[in-house]
Amino acid sequence: GWVRRSCGGAEAKRGDPKAARRRRRLAGPWPPPAAAAGSRPPARRRRWPPSHAVERRRRRRALSGDGGGGGGGGGSPAPGPLLPPPRALARPPPPLALVPRFPDIPVLPYSPLRCRMCRSILNPFSIVDYVAKIWVCPFCFQRNHFPQHYSSISESNLPAELFPQYTTVEYISTAETGPVVPPVFMFVVDTCMIEEEIGYLKSALAQVVELLPDNSLVGFITFGTYVQVHELGFGLLPKSYVFKGTKEVTKDEMLDQMCFFAGKRKPTTGVIAGTRDGLSSESIARFLLPASECEFVLNAVIEELQKDPWPVPADQRASRCTGAALSVAASLLGVCVPGSGARIMAFVGGPSTEGPGSIVSKSLLEPIRSHKDLDKDSAPLYDKAVKFYDQIAKQLVHQGHVLDVFACAVDQVGVAEMKVAIEKTGGIVVLAESFGHSVFKDSLLRIFQSSDNDLGLSFNGILEINCSKDVKIQGIIGPCASLEKKSPLSSDTVIGQGNTSAWKMCGLDKKTSLCLVYDIAKKDGSNTIGQAASNQFYFQFLTYYQHHEGQMRLRATTISRRWVSGSDSVQATYRWL
Ligand SMILES: [Zn+2]
Repeated sequence: GWVRRSCGGAEAKRGDPKAARRRRRLAGPWPPPAAAAGSRPPARRRRWPPSHAVERRRRRRALSGDGGGGGGGGGSPAPGPLLPPPRALARPPPPLALVPRFPDIPVLPYSPLRCRMCRSILNPFSIVDYVAKIWVCPFCFQRNHFPQHYSSISESNLPAELFPQYTTVEYISTAETGPVVPPVFMFVVDTCMIEEEIGYLKSALAQVVELLPDNSLVGFITFGTYVQVHELGFGLLPKSYVFKGTKEVTKDEMLDQMCFFAGKRKPTTGVIAGTRDGLSSESIARFLLPASECEFVLNAVIEELQKDPWPVPADQRASRCTGAALSVAASLLGVCVPGSGARIMAFVGGPSTEGPGSIVSKSLLEPIRSHKDLDKDSAPLYDKAVKFYDQIAKQLVHQGHVLDVFACAVDQVGVAEMKVAIEKTGGIVVLAESFGHSVFKDSLLRIFQSSDNDLGLSFNGILEINCSKDVKIQGIIGPCASLEKKSPLSSDTVIGQGNTSAWKMCGLDKKTSLCLVYDIAKKDGSNTIGQAASNQFYFQFLTYYQHHEGQMRLRATTISRRWVSGSDSVQATYRWL
């Protein structure tokens, strides 16, 4: 039956350990196959609330291949009572100390059930009537009928999403999640550096090429006075498209200038972007190639990286068009892979002096703006550059893409101006004084190294929050961007990214943290709190994202807390329990 499989079957011991680990995380289908359901011994009924000790023992038994016999021997407690009456399901979770910090999250290979009123997802706090086959949504109290394929549900036959300990589950269903898509890495490499620095950067990039996941798509752009887009798909000869560093490049210009419609007529109407909207996969594969196929070309391009050939007068800074290069990278990704996980990894070795996003003029007589200048508002190029990067941020968020910046220079490179684009897209910033410094080298490798041979990097996420009417959301502080989805759940007070109940998270991983700020909602016309009949309230966090294995997943976390009153005034002392 699926209960056992969700905790790892005997087969998990055999063969490839990674595959076994995946199997362990994957719960069986719902409803369970009839044969399996019929053969399940009655002793498999679960105690509620679950004893974690029992759970761990059961899991160990399952892992050691001794999982068939049920809970009879070994001194385990006698089978407990059946699930309590549905009312008790609304109990608070056990104290935090008893909850494993990072339990295996079950991955359910089917679509979630949603409340027909508020669209929140069936969860362990839902009140279930097994006889009438109805569940009550804890958020809006709507009664929802179970669909036909849940008709076998009973107290002893629960789908995983109703297990009390699975307050976080992931759904993966091909109907909802679409095809598997590879992650995309677009390298954007500064060449206005001394030979020594270029040498360091070359060797770091060469290491990264070896660590790229085979299925990931890779693109390569270099910049100095001009922006060069390398056509990795063009056989053994090096070939690249060159753009002026003095202006940004729109997606339309890119489509025209980079021969995406060579020999064919460009559609005159509609949005042209990606293979779904008008581009052939061959035209895209000229610039974005699977890492496994372009390793040779990529290594050749990296090997031949040279200092920007344009002469720099002694009294001037190098002509470095960081802004134009990032604009080209963003537009190229927007043309080729909109709405699919991608990150721009920019390696910058000095201040931007050319074109949009410049932070200082080329003349060395003019010093780079300092903290004081920013405080006094006397950095002449600052506002313009911030505005430019704000546009890039909007474009990237719209496309679902991330900007990472590796800024390695003794000089400043302009992260203050760029940071809006990095923050809103959930990107990474690494600052070091040289590309030879271990801070840079180790950080870069750490992004690409992981024990599981996956990067743990997820992409293109959308976070939505449902909550009980007792609370309202003021906003979120963290690496995300508001999707401006107005909702009755939003508070009038805004902190961070507020006035919405949905946020875009272009880049996210295991360590991504968000701070949610909420308000206690007051009942109209009185000071009493808690519109619900009970003193219990709920949050549900829904994260729809591109998993590093390529599929879209939906992670649903539902938590509950109880209002308690302290000894002081009522309003000041309501708090989380
Ligand atoms: Zn509801």
